Amino acid sequence: METTFEINDQNLLHFLAATKTNNSCGGHTDFLEWNNETEELKTNLTKIGQIAIQPNEKQWDSQYWGQEAKIQLDRYPYYGCEIFQCQKCNTFFFYYLESGGHGAQKRYRVIRKELIDIESITPSYPIIIDYKNLDYTIFKNPDLTYAVSISKNIGIGLDVYYQLSKEEQEGYLRDGINSLSNRIKDMDLNYSNYKVTSWR
Ligand SMILES: [Zn+2]
Repeated sequence: METTFEINDQNLLHFLAATKTNNSCGGHTDFLEWNNETEELKTNLTKIGQIAIQPNEKQWDSQYWGQEAKIQLDRYPYYGCEIFQCQKCNTFFFYYLESGGHGAQKRYRVIRKELIDIESITPSYPIIIDYKNLDYTIFKNPDLTYAVSISKNIGIGLDVYYQLSKEEQEGYLRDGINSLSNRIKDMDLNYSNYKVTSWR
């Protein structure tokens, strides 16, 4: 029997951050944008789960063609997609059946984490949107603020936590993790200025 997960915006990002892909398929470049199933692709794919997200009231109001099209999880077709994974390179794919127009088409698109529109996500508990081992973890909170946490070992293990300012949040959403490198350095050096919890 096939075991699959129900996937929502709360765990999809965590899932993507936790998976290492490799280059044995050359990045599936034909599928950086929506494209129809090929026999070759199909043989390598395993179903992982099904996205279950409430559609936005503007669900049809999105541009989803092109390699750089943003992924808005609460809009068509993403909120109802199935998730597949390539067994050779671990790449994740969205899949949906396009039934409008000229007969059914089985469409796939590579899931590129950097294209997911984080701002369209409203978490019901603090969710991890990115992390790198012990270096940093980025959270989005239910009140739509963002926070960064790092781990530090000074004989005992510590988590150092900081809620981003409005400016830092905008910088992060625009430029990604590099915009927080000074903040993360400061958290490491001057950790006693921050909210600190020890591991138990
Ligand atoms: Zn592959």
